[in-house]
Amino acid sequence: MSKLLTRASSINRALDQIGDKWCLLILQEVFWGINSFNEMLAATGVSKGVLADRLRWLQAVDCLHKKADGDGGKRMRYHLTRKSIELYDCALMAVAWERQFFRTEELDQVILRHRKCGRPFQPRLRCRACGDEVRVQDVSYKPGPGATRDERDKKVRRRSSLSVQDVPSGRSLYKNLINIVGDRWTANVIALSFHGLTRFDQFHQELPVATNILSDRLRFLVEEGVFRQVAYRQRPLRHEYQLTQKGQALYPWFLALLQWGDKWCSQDKRGKPMRLIHDACGKSLVGQVECSACGGVLKAHEVEFGLGADSPGRTSPAAASA
Ligand SMILES: [Zn+2]
Ligand SMILES: [Zn+2]
Repeated sequence: MSKLLTRASSINRALDQIGDKWCLLILQEVFWGINSFNEMLAATGVSKGVLADRLRWLQAVDCLHKKADGDGGKRMRYHLTRKSIELYDCALMAVAWERQFFRTEELDQVILRHRKCGRPFQPRLRCRACGDEVRVQDVSYKPGPGATRDERDKKVRRRSSLSVQDVPSGRSLYKNLINIVGDRWTANVIALSFHGLTRFDQFHQELPVATNILSDRLRFLVEEGVFRQVAYRQRPLRHEYQLTQKGQALYPWFLALLQWGDKWCSQDKRGKPMRLIHDACGKSLVGQVECSACGGVLKAHEVEFGLGADSPGRTSPAAASA
């Protein structure tokens, strides 16, 4: 099998493990407390074969563990691990993005409540050093101690062609986000655009992707309103792809994923491939997800989902597994 080298990136490493639509959907369900095979089958609309395959995969990368339940121990349930619980920041920023750009009745009914202050909140990603909300244009990058190149299989794990229409509406909290970032190349292109890349050739230089696939993904991202196409040359006509407000707003999800990848997806003892600087304060950037009501840093076991204003709310299953 042919191998090739790409710039080491914690986002890439994280996407290698969970950046597939079905994996993201399954993890979302488990966060929500849906954790038996049959429940997941009904909730995701996935085929049995694909579900079994992704559950095996998520166990192999230590993001789920299987345990017989208490009721006679016949039914197997899938639980979050220490590693996957820490995807909680990503899940919260995914909900925030989805709410900002898509209004649905189901989504409007879901209330996030912070147990520590007792109030409903919106998750916000802030710089630990200065407390400012992190925006993509305020972050710069330097090579970290683990800046190297990763060897990857040219044969990328086959991705499903799931589209957002296939996802049962149910309680899906961030299916539009999954539809965009759950495709490997699409997610890679967005991540590169956060580094200032805008042109087809620049993306192609960084990614081992066929030109027709890259064109297809760029077209998709324009249709989805993540990029706007702006001509930078008339003859021959050439476009660059600039992030829209909707595209820039995906940054907190990617930053949370990068931090998770730094911690959980590296074998490299030397350290992070990349150092992030928060230009607003000049310090190394550590993003943390905070409660908009009290400003406290959110921990998975302190977040409650409620359905509607009168609901007593329930703690996320992440609390039970923690
Ligand atoms: Zn700062
Ligand atoms: Zn709070």
